[in-house]
Amino acid sequence: MSTASTPSNRSSVGRDRRRVVGVPKLCWCGQSIVELISKSTPNPYRRYYQCSLAIQEKLSNDQHTCKWVDEAYLDEIESLCARTLSLQEQFE
Ligand SMILES: [Zn+2]
Repeated sequence: MSTASTPSNRSSVGRDRRRVVGVPKLCWCGQSIVELISKSTPNPYRRYYQCSLAIQEKLSNDQHTCKWVDEAYLDEIESLCARTLSLQEQFE
């Protein structure tokens, strides 16, 4: 039991599912990613990305890539902001 190596200053998601930063292009299993719309009650009509193999096999997606589209976009924006900042520092 060790919780030493997990930097979590931003803890909106407690699961280990967010391995991919930004918009996922491929699942780790090599399958393509499909964009779907959630029909679940807590997140109606929320868009998400899921591994096409997981959909095909009707896996309950705790192994394969599954990520909300809005969170993926947030990641992209955050990484862009970080890059912009470091570029600004270089030119100042
Ligand atoms: Zn997969």
